[in-house]
Amino acid sequence: MRGPKGDQRFIRDYNRGLVVNLLRTDGPMSRADLARHTGLAPSALTRRIRDLIDEGLVTEAGKKESSTGRPPTLVSFNPDYASAIGVKIERTRLRAARVNLSGEVRARYETGFDPSPKASQVISLVEKAVEHLNGTRILGVGISISGFVDTINGIDIYSPILGWENVALAEPLEDHLDLPVHLENDVNALTLAEHWHGAGADYRNFVCLTVGEGVGAGVVVDGSLYRGAFGGAGEAGHMMIDPSGPRCRCGERGCLEVFASDQFLRRETIQLGYASIDQLEQAARKKDARAIGVFEQMGHYLGIGAKNLVNVLNPQAIVLGGGRMEASDLFWPAFETEVREHSFAEAAKDLEIVPALLGEDGFLIGAATIVAAEFFRLPTERTAR
Ligand SMILES: [Zn+2]
Repeated sequence: MRGPKGDQRFIRDYNRGLVVNLLRTDGPMSRADLARHTGLAPSALTRRIRDLIDEGLVTEAGKKESSTGRPPTLVSFNPDYASAIGVKIERTRLRAARVNLSGEVRARYETGFDPSPKASQVISLVEKAVEHLNGTRILGVGISISGFVDTINGIDIYSPILGWENVALAEPLEDHLDLPVHLENDVNALTLAEHWHGAGADYRNFVCLTVGEGVGAGVVVDGSLYRGAFGGAGEAGHMMIDPSGPRCRCGERGCLEVFASDQFLRRETIQLGYASIDQLEQAARKKDARAIGVFEQMGHYLGIGAKNLVNVLNPQAIVLGGGRMEASDLFWPAFETEVREHSFAEAAKDLEIVPALLGEDGFLIGAATIVAAEFFRLPTERTAR
């Protein structure tokens, strides 16, 4: 039960959150505009802004152009007030960055390890990364990892690339670092980054589809990441395209990523007698018809996958990203044609198809954004963890 003092604090925190979030998304802004958008009384607003300026989270910056009278002073959000560490754990590499509250990378760190590492080894590498990137006011650590993740308890349930099952990561790290640690699926982290700071910023409903070693999807519904009942949503790579197709690494047959990922490109590379995917790509750029055909086929199948998602979810946009985007010019046209020409008309109406903006940094920015999102969450929205 909250007493009168508790109520006052709750209201103060709530109002503070309103002001900060508005400045973060729509600032800089005058005090009059802030009052209009938040509905706060001038006296309460003045107190909140004064507190925020004292804290350093908000600054006074510049004057607004005004045709009549004295131009009002603008108030703006200070994105370097604090930062979060974003980490991505890959098969043999750990990448990390210190990211400010606007999703800008301020420092980087990278280190390698042998395949199939022990959890304790990776935990100490994360600690080393955090130590290396440490700065003033670190709010916490976000870790993105491929596979199936229990985000509530910070447990890596199943990660084929690391060979892990049921590995608790967040708790031991929180104990050692004395910071909040969040764990998230890598594609979900990327999706969050694109939603807050990239190509998905203008959409409340979109799908971020990634193509690289596999195919993944992050789904944003009504402005929030859709994780499904147990965190397993978005495994678009295992959408079945052909039940009698080649065997997928998941054990099923004919999954999307069998036809549209680096696994597919590697198979075709060998088939056509090239040494690497890079060589196949070079051949396609030199107008070798068979090499071009491989990328077109990949685009076509990726388009089939996206089309199925569009028909089920009716998103405003598909944001396409992932490690294979450097060759997107070779598969994008076939991809877009498949999505546009063969989706159910109403589901694809006004659909936008755009490339992701943040590249490989998106995984780190997204992991850090999970931490930032907790910081910006209003008291009414706080999750128990
Ligand atoms: Zn599969």
